[in-house]
Amino acid sequence: MNFTSVNPYTQKKIKAYPALSASALDRKLKQADRAFIDWSALSLENRLTYFRKIAAYLRREKQPLGELITAEMGKTLKEAIAEVEKCAVGCDYYIENAPKFLADLTIKTEAQRSFVTYEPLGTVLAVMPWNFPFWQVFRFAVPSLLAGNVGVLKHAANVSGCSLAMEEIFRACDVPEGVFQSLLIESKTVDTVLRDPRVKAVTLTGSEKAGASVASIAGNQIKKSVLELGGSDALIVLADADLEKAARVAVQSRMQNAGQSCIAAKRFIVEKSVKKEFTDRVLQHIQAIQQGDPRLESTTMGPVARLDLADAIERQCAETVRQGARMLHGGQRDGCNVQPILLDNVKPGMTAFDEETFGPLAVIVEAKDERDAIKLANQSNYGLGSALWTRDLDRADRLARQIQAGSVFVNSLMRSDPRVPFGGVKLSGFGRELSEVGMKEFLNIKTVWME
Ligand code: NDP
Repeated sequence: MNFTSVNPYTQKKIKAYPALSASALDRKLKQADRAFIDWSALSLENRLTYFRKIAAYLRREKQPLGELITAEMGKTLKEAIAEVEKCAVGCDYYIENAPKFLADLTIKTEAQRSFVTYEPLGTVLAVMPWNFPFWQVFRFAVPSLLAGNVGVLKHAANVSGCSLAMEEIFRACDVPEGVFQSLLIESKTVDTVLRDPRVKAVTLTGSEKAGASVASIAGNQIKKSVLELGGSDALIVLADADLEKAARVAVQSRMQNAGQSCIAAKRFIVEKSVKKEFTDRVLQHIQAIQQGDPRLESTTMGPVARLDLADAIERQCAETVRQGARMLHGGQRDGCNVQPILLDNVKPGMTAFDEETFGPLAVIVEAKDERDAIKLANQSNYGLGSALWTRDLDRADRLARQIQAGSVFVNSLMRSDPRVPFGGVKLSGFGRELSEVGMKEFLNIKTVWME
């Protein structure tokens, strides 16, 4: 069995990587188990030293790493390099804050001394997707490993080169063998790995189908799981919004990474009185997108990562048009290069409203008023991120609390930022990544009570 990386822009094979044999997989899990003993016993200051090296490595090697990302999954080189830089920023954030987050917490009780201490669990399995092949991994690995856990990565089959490159980064930065390892295994082998007693917990970013499967095995084994699944984020535009800025950021949110982001604004829900003006502005920004070779500076949108993903977007678009939506832009496709699509008059019950759309497809949904906008936003099985555009921040405060999502960004691009928790509700999953909260997901929050 081989994993073959194919350049989505050229459709040329890049390389085939052999899958791990059962005995090689066992060796890696043994290695992880052994590494945990020494790694968790190191002082935090010692572990921080390695992550300083990793941050420097990422900054130094961002160009070749970016080129690898672009070759394997098609995002523009500019976006790929920015992704590598973001991983370095993630390291910086935890290097600065880990001592504070991991310090014992004294709790006043009637005992002589009572406190909480944070202890790592052991080997954590990370099942990760291809859309942000570095960032998704680093945002798990940096806080978890700094806290003393070790990690094994099952990456998506189409980004094996990225998976091995990350393993190499840890090696090149002298991180002890076994602290971070790439497992080139099929998704069906995740079951075996997760049931292995040496693996203590799992984090997965990906589809609900993969999430449901992994979480059910984890549940059966009584192992902690964190799931970051799909989203169908609403971007609400109220009549008092800065329409130009809202339109520009809406298009950026939806179309960056060729629309392949869990937190892309997937449903633009717009108050009736400003719908025409907002839609015209969105259309202008979409028309300005430059598709082409993702390595070129002039290209602002690359191909989607795989042919089946392009097929899915094409199907969702065709169905939604058949159901009564009006196509204002798009309709062309060449292999993985999908022309950005804008659909108007989209309503609940239509495919692009009800399903997650993982590609360059934006939809306009009309809302009668503020109340209707919130109702439409919440009319989704998902609840990951959301955005709200209004100049009235008191109104924003009131409405943000009514949106069923893990985050609400007001007058700003919805994004993942190491300083704030990231995750969802409903079918978007559970648990949180990033910030102090994310760092503590895979720790034993231990109470010590002394009388
Ligand atoms: P998947 O969920 O299938 O893949 C994500 C990761 O999960 C990959 O490493 C994959 O491995 C693994 N995986 C898949 N099925 C299982 C399983 N049953 N048990 C254990 N691991 C599994 O996503 P796709 O790449 O197929 O994309 C499909 C859709 O998923 C997208 O259109 C989008 O809707 C959603 N998605 C959401 C993401 C997000 O950021 N929330 C990211 C990526 C996808 P392998 O590649 O070997 O199958």
